[in-house]
Amino acid sequence: MIKTKGYANHSATAPLQPYSFERRDPRPDDVAIEIAYSGICHSDIHTARSEWGPTIYPCVPGHEIVGKVIAVGKKVKRFKVGDTVGVGCMVDSCGKCPNCKINEEQFCSDHTVFTYNSEELKDKTNTLGGYASHIVVKEKFVLKIKKGLPLERIAPLLCAGITTYSPLKRYGVKKGQKVGVVGLGGLGHMAVKLAKSMGAEVTVFSTSPSKKDDAKKLGAKNFIVTSDPANFEAVAGKFDLIIDTVSAKHDFTPYLNSLRIDGTHCLLGVAPEPNQVHAFALIFGRKRLTGSLIGGIKETQQMLDFCAKKKVFADIELIPASEINAAYERTIKGQVKYRFVIDAKTF
Ligand code: NAP
Ligand code: ZN
Ligand code: ZN
Repeated sequence: MIKTKGYANHSATAPLQPYSFERRDPRPDDVAIEIAYSGICHSDIHTARSEWGPTIYPCVPGHEIVGKVIAVGKKVKRFKVGDTVGVGCMVDSCGKCPNCKINEEQFCSDHTVFTYNSEELKDKTNTLGGYASHIVVKEKFVLKIKKGLPLERIAPLLCAGITTYSPLKRYGVKKGQKVGVVGLGGLGHMAVKLAKSMGAEVTVFSTSPSKKDDAKKLGAKNFIVTSDPANFEAVAGKFDLIIDTVSAKHDFTPYLNSLRIDGTHCLLGVAPEPNQVHAFALIFGRKRLTGSLIGGIKETQQMLDFCAKKKVFADIELIPASEINAAYERTIKGQVKYRFVIDAKTF
């Protein structure tokens, strides 16, 4: 067993605190990783606080993981001790169903094992995530990271990067297209950088007027403050694609009205409460309202290679583990610039 130090909470209302536990010894197809950095995603907060339904405690969140291989099982072929690697939101799936076969393991029709708060396939224990010194993961779910990159800025790519890259690719974003990004947080700032790097003209929709200069620096051409409905008039019928990263309940109608004919509003944020949309907002202009969940392992590797080539990395605030609870509060207030990343040496 691998002695592991991490942070966990023990109920929906309890803060995260130091927590020691053991990882399994690597199985023949496992990779054991010493974690270097771990990003803080808003999904960690939703889960730690049981906002999406009851969470299993103790909960060790964290699914934006980079680190170094310290041991490999005897059947592992793609990794060796010393390699730099990443782990995202999933650590296993059935591997046999139609969705796994087309590299969409996040939609495994049997059971996707998520990196935390999820039942493992073999031993049926609850997964514990990346706010920890070590993790042991099946080779197939470990990503390669090129040498010489700023690792702390790569960690957020493992969730915020792939979650925004996948719909931008799926809906064919390219030069000349107009892309809107709603919410400038962890996912939002990656969406801006990635859409810009694919050639799109990017507009940020934000509740925070203070983020205007940052939005421009990140690559946005336009910035719309969403608190005044009049600000939407100038962009009616304009966008090919809107990427919606907002973590709280909000009205989709102004965004649907901002799409061109056949335009797509893609939901990434998951507010705890359901929403309502009037059919008129969709039928006039044949608008599409859709959603997207992270991305498969193959696509995650493509995204990492794309970001390495284009030098697209997250903008981060590096924190010690003792500041996780304060970081949660600032994230909830929309004050993160633009992803908190935990230095795993401090667990
Ligand atoms: P984040 O860093 O907290 O960013 C969310 C942003 O939404 C905030 O910075 C804020 O931007 C805006 N916002 C927050 N509250 C709002 C409100 N009440 N009304 C309007 N705007 C509001 O969160 P994140 O880590 O990017 O995650 C965003 C959401 O995506 C979360 O719900 C998370 O669980 C979900 N998620 C989904 C996937 C997936 O696969 N689909 C993957 C990862 C995360 P402004 O200040 O600019 O308004
Ligand atoms: Zn996430
Ligand atoms: Zn499957």
